[in-house]
Amino acid sequence: MSKKVAIIGAGCSGLTAIKCCLEEGLEPTCFEQSDGIGGLWKYTDAVEEDRASIYKSVFTNTSKEMMCYSDFPMPEDFPIFLHHSKILEYLNLYAERFNLFKYIEFQTKVLSVKQHPDFATTGKWNIEIEKEGKMKMDVFDAVIICNGHYNEPYLPLDTFPGLKHFEGHHIHSRFYKTCDEYHGKRVVVVGTGNSAGDISVELSHIAKQVYLSTRHGSWVISRISYDGFPLDMTMSRRYTMWIKNFLPRILAAKISEKVMSRWFSHSNLGLEPKFRLKHPMVNDYLPSQILQGSIQVKPGIKSFSETSVIFEDGTTADVDEVIFATGYSSTFPFLDDDLLKLNNNDISLYKYVFPIYLGKPTLAFLGLIQPLGPIMPTAELQARWATRVFRGAAQLPSVKKMETDCIKNKDRKNKWFGVGRTQVLQAHYMDYISDISREIGINPNITYLFFTDPRLAWQVSFGPCTPYQLRLKGPGKWPGARNAILTQWDRTIKPTKTRVLHEQADEPWLNIKRVLVIGSLLVAICFSKARINAEQNGYLAWPNSGTSWTRIFQWSK
Ligand code: NAP
Repeated sequence: MSKKVAIIGAGCSGLTAIKCCLEEGLEPTCFEQSDGIGGLWKYTDAVEEDRASIYKSVFTNTSKEMMCYSDFPMPEDFPIFLHHSKILEYLNLYAERFNLFKYIEFQTKVLSVKQHPDFATTGKWNIEIEKEGKMKMDVFDAVIICNGHYNEPYLPLDTFPGLKHFEGHHIHSRFYKTCDEYHGKRVVVVGTGNSAGDISVELSHIAKQVYLSTRHGSWVISRISYDGFPLDMTMSRRYTMWIKNFLPRILAAKISEKVMSRWFSHSNLGLEPKFRLKHPMVNDYLPSQILQGSIQVKPGIKSFSETSVIFEDGTTADVDEVIFATGYSSTFPFLDDDLLKLNNNDISLYKYVFPIYLGKPTLAFLGLIQPLGPIMPTAELQARWATRVFRGAAQLPSVKKMETDCIKNKDRKNKWFGVGRTQVLQAHYMDYISDISREIGINPNITYLFFTDPRLAWQVSFGPCTPYQLRLKGPGKWPGARNAILTQWDRTIKPTKTRVLHEQADEPWLNIKRVLVIGSLLVAICFSKARINAEQNGYLAWPNSGTSWTRIFQWSK
């Protein structure tokens, strides 16, 4: 009998969790408290309790080729960066294509998720739900939590002395929908996350003055890279990950900082971050609005008076409105506190998915991570892994090993991104997806590909690490993956190349430069394999015989 899996939430993580359950022969039931799919991408004019809320003007900051699910490219006429309504459209297409709707129970709220009395032997869960005012209890073999982590605003009012005497108006960014109420006002926006960036830029067009208050600063990067291509497609590439991991961390961080400050001097614009590789804000308009004077960057807030804000550098500003874009707290109201301890947004999860101390690997969290890259394919990969573990096709290591991994990961993360509440969930996208891909056995065989399909190998190594790369081999292999990779640039420029003056002839993919790079790479691989041989066997085994070539293929497969 197939195992029953409860999925909480039908947002971008929940939908792919349903699909992955079906692919692993599990029986999913997805509980969604609202009347539709999409999670935070389901925009509403009013803020709804217990649901994430986005503002009307939100556009994605990852590109469509990078952020789609790995076996479902976005329609080629979709813009490169998408309005939230387009994401919802895409999620509906996905749910229809893979027939997911019938597994979702809408307007059903999960009240509690508790261990079954036999949990120690079976790993089962009791789930209590409420639908149309009626309570119901059911037993499931496993649970996937996809309720998102942007429902509960984080607003530490006590860290802002004098706020209660402030006579102006203040809100958390969760309650910001449009700029309509801010015409001619003086507004302070607190924070330098993506919400703060978007909101301050939107306000700067109609407000009298916008102040952007930041205690730690932030890198600000554009969506656009050279030749107008999306930045994430030019940055998230395997060879950049190899170089980053090969270089000493300090040097790699310096190079990344150099790349991020190529656009403008962050110190000249008051944005210079205090931490090294703090999660960058993606915003194409902020620097120009600062140059135009519509936005002034200020340090952190020291205190409030009745009518003004006093900043840490002693300067003051008379203001009418304050918007705290101070982020969110992860909450799981249906889980017992003793099951999961949240420490300043931090939970000890093995590779951000599995609680370490449960004893049975039958509970998984999806999307509880802030990768420097797209969240949808990340959550999809987590779902592929979790469902394989539930089925028994993959195993988790011992508690000791998981603990050690968590400690190492935290240490690495602190060194890269800095220590703090905002940094708790941050991760390098490429490292993370490679890590989880190895757990599933789907990491592409680069060496093997160079021998068998060099054109594809080139794109996989040096091209953008689009999610299709995670469908080239192993469980969940998708026959369309190769073609999706080789046509990703066509889909990228299709929606923008709407005026063609002269047709450009396609450049042959194999040119002198590429031949030289591929040649050097193969020689480097042979050298490194020969060196490994020498280290393992005590003699240098240059791969010049049939056996050695076979071995290369075996290593790389
Ligand atoms: P966030 O990324 O968590 O940023 C919170 C900001 O608030 C940080 O700059 C933090 O500053 C600041 N902050 C926190 N506590 C503070 C305090 N006590 N005093 C002063 N400043 C404080 O939150 P967010 O911007 O709302 O974004 C939430 C998520 O949604 C992120 O993953 C973001 O990328 C995403 N998002 C995406 C888009 C888009 O795609 N266009 C738009 C908006 C949001 P420190 O750095 O100093 O801690």
